[in-house]
Amino acid sequence: MHGGRDVANDASTVFDLVILGGGSGGYAAALRGAQLGLDVALIEKDKVGGTCLHRGCIPTKALLHAGEIADQARESEQFGVKATFEGIDIAGVHKYKDGVISGLYKGLQGLVASRKVTYIEGEGRLSSPTSVDVNGRRVQGRHVLLATGSVPKSLPGLEIDGNRIISSDHALVLDRVPKSAIILGGGVIGVEFASAWKSFGSDVTVIEGLKHLVPVEDENSSKLLERAFRKRGIKFNLGTFFSKAEYTADGVKVTLADGKEFEAEILLVAVGRGPVSAGLGYEEQGVAMDRGYVLVDEYMRTNVPTISAVGDLVPTLQLAHVGFAEGILVAERLAGLKTVPIDYDGVPRVTYCHPEVASVGITEAKAKEIYGADKVVALKYNLAGNGKSKILNTSGEIKLVQVKDGAVVGVHMVGDRMGEQVGEAQLIYNWEALPAEVAQLIHAHPTQSEALGEAHLALAGKPLHSHD
Ligand SMILES: Cc1cc2nc3c(=O)[nH]c(=O)nc-3n(C[C@H](O)[C@H](O)[C@H](O)COP(=O)(O)OP(=O)(O)OC[C@H]3O[C@@H](n4cnc5c(N)ncnc54)[C@H](O)[C@@H]3O)c2cc1C
Repeated sequence: MHGGRDVANDASTVFDLVILGGGSGGYAAALRGAQLGLDVALIEKDKVGGTCLHRGCIPTKALLHAGEIADQARESEQFGVKATFEGIDIAGVHKYKDGVISGLYKGLQGLVASRKVTYIEGEGRLSSPTSVDVNGRRVQGRHVLLATGSVPKSLPGLEIDGNRIISSDHALVLDRVPKSAIILGGGVIGVEFASAWKSFGSDVTVIEGLKHLVPVEDENSSKLLERAFRKRGIKFNLGTFFSKAEYTADGVKVTLADGKEFEAEILLVAVGRGPVSAGLGYEEQGVAMDRGYVLVDEYMRTNVPTISAVGDLVPTLQLAHVGFAEGILVAERLAGLKTVPIDYDGVPRVTYCHPEVASVGITEAKAKEIYGADKVVALKYNLAGNGKSKILNTSGEIKLVQVKDGAVVGVHMVGDRMGEQVGEAQLIYNWEALPAEVAQLIHAHPTQSEALGEAHLALAGKPLHSHD
């Protein structure tokens, strides 16, 4: 209700902003827009929170945490603790995971209501440059934000049946721990499931067509992760593409382009996610698109002046915090605030497998391309010199990429809990810090953040606990 009017059902209401899709991008725009005094309608066909909260970031991290506890129980003896690992109660794992989701979901629903966003449940379709049709009525706005997100993709001829050939959506609600699993795709989602399932006791093989696991990361991080996975007994096959999958009597057989075959109980297809845009009226209203993605400029404006788009629907990094930032940018722009384009290299990226891979800025290879090979300095700091990492019994490295005599342009970290260090790394990158400036900052001992400090001490020419 707005001033006594039932705005959600009143066709004469013209909102300042009508948002199609209530995932990370859409709801962030709604909350920020409402905070800035915009009259906002948020249309969602399923649950506010979208992929991240219900089928993505949050449930996967809950599974990974359950896996970490299982590993700690198995490995407790090396810390002098007598615990026994009896097995995984998958119903219990789901109960824990669903409890986390439902708590956050309730909180988010409360936020949307308290900020006086008009929430409309239903499947919407863009019906003009300033309206969305939903539940048989037209919702009008001065501006429309498209935020319909993405869904799991497959490969030609590979049908996801939800039973033996599954996507991440199915994997998150699987009622058992698979005895064996093939994971097609060694990107973020693939390696996170590989890590969690291995911790639960599955025999896991990852198939990646490119040369490395997490192939968009700095090559050093990929190699460190591969070494750690090998040690954990997670198998992987790199550099050869998938050819076909067939059912066997009790599972699935995957054949690669070179004829190599793999068999397992289950095949998880984790080859990426595609935009949700088909049949939603975008093209009919003249929105410029490319392979299903909505094209935007650096202010998230489409070619239609009254329409913006954010999140996984646009061809930027598919991350929840990118969706939040893009949604906030749109809300602030429409409210008349000064906005600045997002520097996507400055967005922190974390893969939450065991060990974690975290980075911000550019890779060494990219830095060499941009600045020239002789203008780039790279330094690796081994976590073996870091007290807290030793206590946690994790190994790994922090790699810094610096423009010679200039700022740090890349931070690449591998090791348990290194995802938590990416906050400082992002300040270093985004404030264009010089190694000597970071070296000046005192880091608490013993913490893993100290490793970042020590890496910069070494890069500034005064290494402390650093072995060559
Ligand atoms: C397994 C997995 C793990 C992930 N882990 C992480 C992570 O750790 N960190 C991270 O940053 N990112 C992670 N992501 C990515 C993250 O979830 C997405 O980048 C983010 O959810 C994108 O937000 P979005 O708003 O663009 O789209 P979505 O979250 O997909 O939301 C789109 C919403 O639009 C709704 N919708 C679609 N069509 C219509 C319609 N016609 N009418 C009404 N509503 C509609 C959908 O129901 C959905 O709720 C993960 C993703 C997956 C799949």
